[in-house]
Amino acid sequence: MSIVLDGKALAQSIETELARRVARIRERNGDKVPVLATILVGDDPASATYVKMKGNACRRVGMESLKVVLPESTTTDELVAEIDRLNADPQVHGILLQHPVPNQIDERRCFDRIAIDKDVDGVTSSGFGRMALGEHAYGSATPAGIMQLLSHYRIPLSGKNAVVVGRSPILGKPMAMMLLNADATVTICHSRTQGLPDILRRADLVVGAVGKPEFIRGDWIKDGAVVVDAGYHPGGVGDIELSSVLTRCGAYTPVPGGVGPMTIATLIEQTVAAAEKPL
Ligand code: NAP
Repeated sequence: MSIVLDGKALAQSIETELARRVARIRERNGDKVPVLATILVGDDPASATYVKMKGNACRRVGMESLKVVLPESTTTDELVAEIDRLNADPQVHGILLQHPVPNQIDERRCFDRIAIDKDVDGVTSSGFGRMALGEHAYGSATPAGIMQLLSHYRIPLSGKNAVVVGRSPILGKPMAMMLLNADATVTICHSRTQGLPDILRRADLVVGAVGKPEFIRGDWIKDGAVVVDAGYHPGGVGDIELSSVLTRCGAYTPVPGGVGPMTIATLIEQTVAAAEKPL
């Protein structure tokens, strides 16, 4: 029987605990609550939905979200100026810049402008560097949420062969470093990787972070492997062909209800932590 890594249920229990922590902050600080600033640039409907879901999660735990919406034509300098304003605002504890931004914007420059103590989505280069070296930093929210889910279900990682498919700065690369820090033996695969099916067949743990529906076939995954799917596509499928491994893998994240809710819970948790005690 495969274990379902139920991100939705774990996220709900994290939110219950966060609501208590927010209530304590409010008591101590004369009704002031943690504030997450969300920046949405342009009018991509999926990004707008993600930002809305993050704002809703803030409300559920008693926090506030400060919504900044900028037009599609925003320049890098304009976005940097907005980030500077939020960095300097003592009422703001965390800053989320929704990825992706329109093409004309230098996203890396904007991510790196976020002050490290407000980088609750874990997107800055210095946050990545600190995390990779095992220093204190807010982890990139999606891989940090995955680690929390694996830890909750006591999935052993030490000495295991972990294969991460995808090497993006916000998902694949930080995921690989977090698994390495947990003593897994990590392989990172990408669009130039040769022989992906054979690499995956040796994996004890597979993380799909490719962005292509059911790209990772079920028959590339060995019996008993732990399957983590970060993707979500129309039709309710992820980056892995989950339907054909459900009964023979060791554990899996459902799509939806696995990685997605954990990403949001981790972002909110890191914002509460930033309000309790800055880095
Ligand atoms: P991304 O920036 O587009 O990166 C995709 C990665 O997949 C790249 O590293 C790319 O390799 C690799 N890739 C593409 N084609 C490949 C192939 N044929 N073989 C092997 N690797 C290949 O995507 P992302 O932002 O990391 O997101 C990945 C997935 O996670 C998406 O489905 C996204 O929707 C999902 N996601 C979910 C959450 C959540 O909260 N649940 C958050 C973020 C992302 P190259 O580097 O060589 O191009």
